[in-house]
Amino acid sequence: MILRPTKDNIQKAATLLKKGDVIAFPTETVYGLGAVGLNDQAIAKIYALKNRPKINPLIFHCLNIDWIKDIADVPPLAEKIADYFIPGPLTLVLQQKKDSKVSKLATAGLDTIAVRVPVHPIAQDLLSAVGTPLVAPSANLSGRISSTQASHVHSFFGDNIAAVLDGGDCCYGLESTILDLSTQTPTVLRQGAVPHETLEDVIGQPILTSSSLEKIKAPGQLKKHYAPSLPLRINVAIPKKGEAYIGFGEMECMFNLSPAGDLFEAAANLFKFLHQADDDQSFKGISIAPIPKKNIGIAINDRLMRASYQEETDE
Ligand code: AMP
Ligand code: MG
Repeated sequence: MILRPTKDNIQKAATLLKKGDVIAFPTETVYGLGAVGLNDQAIAKIYALKNRPKINPLIFHCLNIDWIKDIADVPPLAEKIADYFIPGPLTLVLQQKKDSKVSKLATAGLDTIAVRVPVHPIAQDLLSAVGTPLVAPSANLSGRISSTQASHVHSFFGDNIAAVLDGGDCCYGLESTILDLSTQTPTVLRQGAVPHETLEDVIGQPILTSSSLEKIKAPGQLKKHYAPSLPLRINVAIPKKGEAYIGFGEMECMFNLSPAGDLFEAAANLFKFLHQADDDQSFKGISIAPIPKKNIGIAINDRLMRASYQEETDE
């Protein structure tokens, strides 16, 4: 059931969540598949619906920093970062509060917890109406392209979920940046909507990435992820016959991420075009133009690398 985000429908969605149902809602990054973060049974439904490995923990979505403080220890550096980026598309990994009542299923039994405050007004209204944090992994089957429109969510889950609040297109269209502050050195575990350079400017020191630590903490870092069903080739100047071509910058093509060469516009269009090309029976594959590796383009290239990753075979 796709619901218009009226006051009544947001209340209805909150009621469904409180009774243990799973519903999808828009955030500024991508659509989330939401459940109450204290409800093990509802969280188990999310893992089953997404076919998500149980070792992959979920992000807790909070209304504000006070809610974060109820479930996590917030060190001074996190306070400073929160002043700039919260609410917004940044997830922090922090030490979990000792007496926290959150679901161990959702944290995969870790003593850390990932938290975020979405700025999207529908997400904010929904959190207010529920009154407790919501876990909300991206509303797609595990390993597939995230949803940036209500119709994408519907095509993945149909009526297996109780409702989808329709907030139109997500404005960033790319998942949150995940910054781990639970260890000595701040480390980006997933590149995302907040560019790496912007974070470094605020923190005033270089930030590591998980690959530089050779440690896979966030399964968003797995080699194959965010994948369409069709084979995807990246950094392509001239497409092959039968391929859908996704361009960037001044060029004539069916899908252009941003004719003006704007990387934020490109990020917002990326998953939408991948979904469209993937759903079109007339294509045999998808190829995509080179995207500059700067600013949010770093996160775009990260997603494309994983979406196009092919296991090596002996052939
Ligand atoms: P998704 O819900 O699909 O946006 O993915 C959420 C990401 O957050 C996953 O890649 C998780 O592994 C990561 N995550 C959640 N909790 C933690 C944690 N405590 N430590 C490290 N990564 C986490
Ligand atoms: Mg995801």
